[in-house]
Amino acid sequence: MKMERLDAKELIESLAPLISSEAILHNIEFHLGLQSVPKIMADRELVKQVLVNLMKNGIEAMSETQGGTLTITNSYVAEERMVRIEIRDSGPGIPHYLLDRIFDAFFTTKETGTGLGLPICQRLVSDMGGQIKVTSKGYGTTFAVWLPVAGE
Ligand code: ADP
Ligand code: MG
Repeated sequence: MKMERLDAKELIESLAPLISSEAILHNIEFHLGLQSVPKIMADRELVKQVLVNLMKNGIEAMSETQGGTLTITNSYVAEERMVRIEIRDSGPGIPHYLLDRIFDAFFTTKETGTGLGLPICQRLVSDMGGQIKVTSKGYGTTFAVWLPVAGE
């Protein structure tokens, strides 16, 4: 791992061309709601890998529903000294009884899925001192990636 001080807003913006072209192909609207936040301490390539994986999952989920909206936002959670990056989709959501299992290796509901995306994302984020949280309440899904801010 190559930990460095990173601007999360700039990093997300650098992924926008890739994600928006993928979104267009699937009839998905792509929105960014980004603000300036304190620098995080993380590995640039690994954070990108995590975010791309989560966005792809969102796009795949919405392909089943013939389109939708993918929204990426970021914010600074001062009490925790963490930056939170949220990836929200308007797809079918994840049933409550499956929420515990989606991070298990090889768990997939896709015909050609590997079930390795989320366990790898979770491992990478935890290795960088952060956490991934998921919420889904019947409709749509939000994955939140929490990463620690860099010291002074
Ligand atoms: P894969 O994408 O290969 O199936 P992942 O580990 O990335 O493996 O995801 C595991 C499972 O979690 C998916 O098969 C799907 O059932 C569920 N999942 C992940 N992200 C979403 C999402 N945004 N909306 C609905 N279901 C999701
Ligand atoms: Mg996946």
